[in-house]
Amino acid sequence: QEPRVTYKRVLLKISGEALMGDQGYGLHPPTVNRIAAEVKSVHDLGVEICMVIGGGNIFRGLQGSAQGMERATADYMGMLATVMNALAMQAALEALKIHTRVISAIPMDQVCEPYIRRRAIRHLEKKRVCIFAAGTGNPYFTTDTAATLRANEMGCEAIFKGTKVDGVYDKDPKKHADAKRYDRVSYDEVLQKHLGVMDASAIALARDNHLPIVVFSLDEPGGFRGILAGDGTYTLVA
Ligand code: UDP
Repeated sequence: QEPRVTYKRVLLKISGEALMGDQGYGLHPPTVNRIAAEVKSVHDLGVEICMVIGGGNIFRGLQGSAQGMERATADYMGMLATVMNALAMQAALEALKIHTRVISAIPMDQVCEPYIRRRAIRHLEKKRVCIFAAGTGNPYFTTDTAATLRANEMGCEAIFKGTKVDGVYDKDPKKHADAKRYDRVSYDEVLQKHLGVMDASAIALARDNHLPIVVFSLDEPGGFRGILAGDGTYTLVA
């Protein structure tokens, strides 16, 4: 029997690739709108929502450095990609009449708000969805680490990591028919067995601050709301 998961404030982390649909690159508006509708359904429950969206659908730092670009420069390009994704999500949420703020770790005042912790908390209290963009603002990090950092700073009770599968498996369930899903797994087991939930620095930061990670499928319609309302399939990393 799984514990009932009911939270007042959560952070939803999705990869940039979650926004590209079946395309190989960029943004797929119907997919962005579908995810925005999932977020709205949770917002309608009264849950305060933070979001962090990756940038891998547009640019990844490692890809740039593999092509000979200096790593830090390539990482800044990756961070800028996350700002584009955040703006697309903001537009989709606002079309659903959800008030949002895009809050960037790298100030760009004409485009979105700079990150000011206490101001962001105030937005959440006013039920505005806060989309944190530009990762941590530092090269050599990922948006998984940014998600864990912001979730801690905002006092979120959990990170919801939306993926293509309904939890954490002992091996890739898309390749192995006998892959086994964990209902619950510890941070240390995720690290030791390289279970690929998030990168190691993000997992360690969550562990050190006792921040649970709920891994669930973003492809399952109503899945995000279902888990917050107390049912559905997921893995709890705690
Ligand atoms: N990035 C960074 N610092 C951060 C967050 C992101 O340098 O704090 C860069 C990094 O180059 C990364 C890119 O932004 O490859 C896109 O983020 P990520 O790969 O985490 O996106 P996702 O895989 O979730 O789509």
